[in-house]
Amino acid sequence: MRPLVKIFRFSPIIIEKKQRLGGLQQVSNFQNVWYLGLIEKTGYEIAEQFRQHIQVEEISTLLGSQVRSIVKDGDNFQIFTEAKEITAQGLVIATGQRIKGYEGIKFIEGSHELLSSQEIFFDPGATPLLTPQMNEKIVAIVGGGDNGLVTAIRFSETAKHIHLFVRSQMCGFKVNQKTIYEKVEAGKITLHQPAIIQRFEVQDNQIYITFGDGERLEEKLA
Ligand SMILES: Cc1cc2nc3c(=O)[nH]c(=O)nc-3n(C[C@H](O)[C@H](O)[C@H](O)COP(=O)(O)OP(=O)(O)OC[C@H]3O[C@@H](n4cnc5c(N)ncnc54)[C@H](O)[C@@H]3O)c2cc1C
Repeated sequence: MRPLVKIFRFSPIIIEKKQRLGGLQQVSNFQNVWYLGLIEKTGYEIAEQFRQHIQVEEISTLLGSQVRSIVKDGDNFQIFTEAKEITAQGLVIATGQRIKGYEGIKFIEGSHELLSSQEIFFDPGATPLLTPQMNEKIVAIVGGGDNGLVTAIRFSETAKHIHLFVRSQMCGFKVNQKTIYEKVEAGKITLHQPAIIQRFEVQDNQIYITFGDGERLEEKLA
């Protein structure tokens, strides 16, 4: 196969702060629904395919290199990492997203107890795969962004019931919001919105969530 970058005479360099390429797809065990033609591939598999493609295209890669600063110098950009200085005529910034985990709820009373529970996942990509054992579980999901909505939709297919906590407005894609409302209508999801969580308690593998005006979710959550 003829490398594309040679045809277009580009000499790109990927600067990646981690030791592996793949970005957020590396932390996702979910099966892809968005990338065209990669049906049922998990995030891990997609990341691996990306890495292989980069190799075939012979694209230079600087791993473990964090961009510290960028200076415009005439028509060029001077890009500084800890160890290198690179001159480039063009620049694509694709530093992506960051998962807000514990830091997003650490101000809530009792949140530190969640850190030691095996039943709590802060990274949606690390949540257990959808297995038949999920049938007995009532799952609480905190957050009305796309990760929260998609996780709620996926788990509603196998879990016994889902409680979705949205602080103010849902801000995920409209299509995800629409599916949430359909699942609420079907009795699979209870939507708590607006729901300000005041306290978490973990007791004997059960998680209690107090929210709103002292309303307490007493069901066994996992
Ligand atoms: C659980 C989960 C499931 C998902 N499922 C799907 C799905 O099914 N289909 C789909 O299409 N998408 C899915 N996504 C979304 C998808 O992962 C993102 O849209 C995609 O990864 C965005 O790619 P990106 O390259 O823009 O950013 P990222 O993947 O976030 O990559 C950005 C990269 O930049 C690096 N970086 C950041 N700052 C610096 C710096 N200063 N110097 C050097 N490097 C830096 C980071 O280390 C990272 O590797 C999912 C995401 C999650 C979390």
